[in-house]
Amino acid sequence: MTVNIRFDPIRLPKICQDLRHEVRDFLHEEEAAGTFDRRENAMGGIFNKEFSRKVGAKGWIGMSWPKKYGGHERTFLERYVVTEEMRVANAPVRGHFTADRQSGPIILKLADEDIKADILPRIAAGECTFCIGMSEPSNGSDLFAARVKATKTDGGWLINGSKIWTSYAHLADYMIALFRTSPCTKENRRHGLTNFLVDLKNFNDIKINPVVNLRGQHEFNEVVFEDTFIPDQYVLGEIDGAWKQATSELAYERSGPERFLETSYVLFELAQVLGKQPDSRAAEGLGRLVAGLHTLRRMSVSVNGMLQAGEEPTIQGSLVKDLGTIWEQELPAKARDLATFVPPGNSNRASFDALLNYGIQVAPKLTIQGGTTEVLRGIIARGLGLR
Ligand SMILES: Cc1cc2nc3c(=O)[nH]c(=O)nc-3n(C[C@H](O)[C@H](O)[C@H](O)COP(=O)(O)OP(=O)(O)OC[C@H]3O[C@@H](n4cnc5c(N)ncnc54)[C@H](O)[C@@H]3O)c2cc1C
Repeated sequence: MTVNIRFDPIRLPKICQDLRHEVRDFLHEEEAAGTFDRRENAMGGIFNKEFSRKVGAKGWIGMSWPKKYGGHERTFLERYVVTEEMRVANAPVRGHFTADRQSGPIILKLADEDIKADILPRIAAGECTFCIGMSEPSNGSDLFAARVKATKTDGGWLINGSKIWTSYAHLADYMIALFRTSPCTKENRRHGLTNFLVDLKNFNDIKINPVVNLRGQHEFNEVVFEDTFIPDQYVLGEIDGAWKQATSELAYERSGPERFLETSYVLFELAQVLGKQPDSRAAEGLGRLVAGLHTLRRMSVSVNGMLQAGEEPTIQGSLVKDLGTIWEQELPAKARDLATFVPPGNSNRASFDALLNYGIQVAPKLTIQGGTTEVLRGIIARGLGLR
């Protein structure tokens, strides 16, 4: 079997270049006004509702969605540019980013008209925060083993069980969650799961317990459902058929620039600390890192071009996430080596060291979030016809 994996070169059109300058100007103004600090934000604390509202007012959330739902009918390439600039600046996008990237598109595709009309304009305005309820204590990568149970009752469903590692559930308004509505069948182990929209602020009997990470930060949560009632209208898509729905959304989730820029601040600090005339060894190392980043960018832009053309580049999206993770995970250790001979008195050294330390601590999790490396390679191998 021959599989043709293409990454067609895409040149960003002028409208994207103009937009990039507009976003940069906005971010510089916000930084100057004290809304955020890109160095501090590199180390967490990136949830800011007021900032999300400002981004919404600029028209940079729900950029590709229909205007009738508060969207702006712009291209994926324009959205790419906004995402890239926000990520590189460590802008506080947590309040809207999950909803913009994946929850909004799922609602657009699967929700009732009333829900679309109610929620999508609020997301686009930066008013609405979402979290993702997939992982459970006994199953993470194997989504089809999900056990949190939804039992049919009059007018809706009763939910029982726990989700875990739910990023920012404590600050979110809604969750899109995967629940078990039927057992799997002998013929299809993926059967029996359904997507639900959970109104975390208005549904009763939901407990959100903090799970503090090794930096002492509260980002993760355990979310416990105890006979939580969810009305029928909040079912998203086909009952028992959630497995049919996860197609192009995975490419959106995995191929964006946020998937290889998470530790990029280490590269920028490295360039500062090495100065304008690094020795030849440092210059070569820096050059290799930048070349890797440049290649990842071209691949990611190419995937966004395919999404714009209505294709479903699942394998390409997985490749970008896998290669991007390797790059951003290796970056802190390589930067530490390259900075070995920079004198302690260098004026940029303290800032570099602080961000490097943080980068080293967060690097291990990069292969787990958004699909583990092994699972992505399984998807790539299947796409290549190797398994
Ligand atoms: C920063 C961060 C944020 C997260 N946010 C969320 C969130 O908001 N919502 C949410 O639902 N989850 C979230 N997660 C959870 C994450 O998606 C899961 O941790 C992930 O799915 C892995 O599940 P697990 O931890 O149970 O590990 P496991 O699935 O038990 O995996 C353990 C190891 O076994 C390997 N493995 C598993 N299956 C296979 C296989 N078939 N073939 C080969 N190797 C395999 C994995 O690659 C991994 O190395 C987050 C995780 C992180 C790190």
